[in-house]
Amino acid sequence: MPGRFQFLTSATRLEQCPSDLRPEIAVLGRSNSGKSTLINAWAQSQIAKTSSTPGKTRLINFFDGPQYRLVDFPGYGYSKRSGDEQATWGGMIETFLSTRGALKGALLLMDCRRDWTNEEEMLLKFLQRRNCPLGVVLTKSDKLNRSEENKVRAKFKVIPGVDAIFFVSSTKRVGLQELEDYVYKSWVQESAAGS
Ligand code: GDP
Repeated sequence: MPGRFQFLTSATRLEQCPSDLRPEIAVLGRSNSGKSTLINAWAQSQIAKTSSTPGKTRLINFFDGPQYRLVDFPGYGYSKRSGDEQATWGGMIETFLSTRGALKGALLLMDCRRDWTNEEEMLLKFLQRRNCPLGVVLTKSDKLNRSEENKVRAKFKVIPGVDAIFFVSSTKRVGLQELEDYVYKSWVQESAAGS
């Protein structure tokens, strides 16, 4: 059972990221995917601000837990953002995902009612290029009944390159423990054993 997480620091540029290399797990997702709510539920504290103004905060936030660090990226795909901002965001995240040595795995959060698009595929490709595992976290699972959930599961299961799929409801606290256990056992412990 991971203990509590604490806010460590924010970065707008890569040079501002922490230089010590604790194991890091990237948490990515479109605006409104439920990322802040999930991080707060994970941390058991309101450390991630829920997005009253989607797309406004362009920060990478680092949260330290006892065994690893969660790295919260700004939401992508917010249509009101300017082209320049999109490009800067893209550059920053691409560089981080491609070069960050401490990165042990990435979680891509998606509202379970949305489809996999080119944007998700691009993120997957960056991670694959450096053999970083990706878990897809389908959020707000309380919005689906069992048979709808099975349909969604079947759809996502066939995406090549996705290492694991999770259904999570942060508000109902369903699936969180399984997700945390997987991250710790498969990505954090494994990498420590292998290094
Ligand atoms: P972010 O923009 O990705 O950080 O998304 P937020 O965490 O702010 O969540 C976006 C919206 O989805 C908010 O209205 C949340 O209350 C809602 N939400 C988040 N998680 C859940 C969930 O597990 N179930 C339901 N029903 N709604 C959720």
